[in-house]
Amino acid sequence: MLERPIILSLTTMREEGMSKLRDAGDLRMASSLEPGVLHQEIVDADALVIRTAGVIDAALMDCGPKLRVIGRHGVGYDQVDVPAATERGIQVVYTPGANTQGVAEHVIAMMIGVSKCFPGQMKALVEGRYNDRTKLVGRDIAGKTLGIIGFGRIGKRVGAIAHAGFGMKVIYTDPLEMPREAEERAGARRVGLDELLETADFITLHVPLDASTRQMINRETLKKIKPGAILLNTCRGPVTDESAVLEALESKRLFGYAADVYTIEPPSSDHPLIGRTDLNLMLTPHSAAQSVESLTRMAEEVADDVIGVLQGRAPINPVNDPEEVAAVRAKLGKPPLR
Ligand code: NAD
Repeated sequence: MLERPIILSLTTMREEGMSKLRDAGDLRMASSLEPGVLHQEIVDADALVIRTAGVIDAALMDCGPKLRVIGRHGVGYDQVDVPAATERGIQVVYTPGANTQGVAEHVIAMMIGVSKCFPGQMKALVEGRYNDRTKLVGRDIAGKTLGIIGFGRIGKRVGAIAHAGFGMKVIYTDPLEMPREAEERAGARRVGLDELLETADFITLHVPLDASTRQMINRETLKKIKPGAILLNTCRGPVTDESAVLEALESKRLFGYAADVYTIEPPSSDHPLIGRTDLNLMLTPHSAAQSVESLTRMAEEVADDVIGVLQGRAPINPVNDPEEVAAVRAKLGKPPLR
């Protein structure tokens, strides 16, 4: 009988995915995210399943010589040292698209909430300042310009909803030229970053975190933003300089800010924005993908892909190139994945 693979998971997930993993192997839950503990618990693992937490670096991979696949429940995989995985012949897979709609809806909800001054209005009501409604005056969205930085899966979906639902003018910036059909669905036009910053009434960030995007919204870029614009960050915290955003809010350069992600997660209690209920801010705890539908799809898709690789099938959503992984494994004398 074939040995059951050992699957180490750093996270719980919807039962739809957990049961698949349990059926396919010996599923073990990591007892801690501390590197010292993980380095021991990964020793005999064939697969590693992760969510947003945990640093998956070369040192950890070196403690798991049997590791064949790392599965990311979600989209951003910036906590994984992907080149280090490739160099060790480890396939990395993820679940692109599983949470696109959930995140896009979260962005639209935040756009509405901030432009309508919901945070201040709800606070005023609770505090018995009913008539402050006349000071907390929102803005309509219809016909305004939406600037999308990163026109990938989520950016495109946000653009399409905003265009169809509000008749927004959509502009985007992305190093990749997008198919005309995707542009048409969002009524979108590709522009340079400066034009986007200078003309958009709403700016929403949908880029991966990498060297080109780290702190791309900083004091200099914020100076270019159209006065009174609303900024939304649901991609990764380090894409914005949070203290520069605070200054832009205090100086009223920005009408409002919404974020689901923070430079350090979870954010500390003295975070510059959290608790600033005097500002037009909507902040959520990295929960944009926390819808039943998104969570179910992420759990099922990551489980299917991890199990598929363990059983010798081609990865469905590879992060690193399967051919390169195969070549490295051959060079290192490791058994092939397929
Ligand atoms: P995607 O890969 O489909 O789209 C990213 C787009 O950004 C691509 O089109 C890419 O070309 C573009 N891009 C890269 N560098 C850029 C730059 N310097 N300037 C402008 N555009 C650039 O990814 P996606 O599924 O749309 O997700 C986007 C990001 O959102 C993910 O990387 C992840 O970090 C984040 N995310 C957050 C949550 C959440 O829970 N808050 C959930 C899902 C995804």
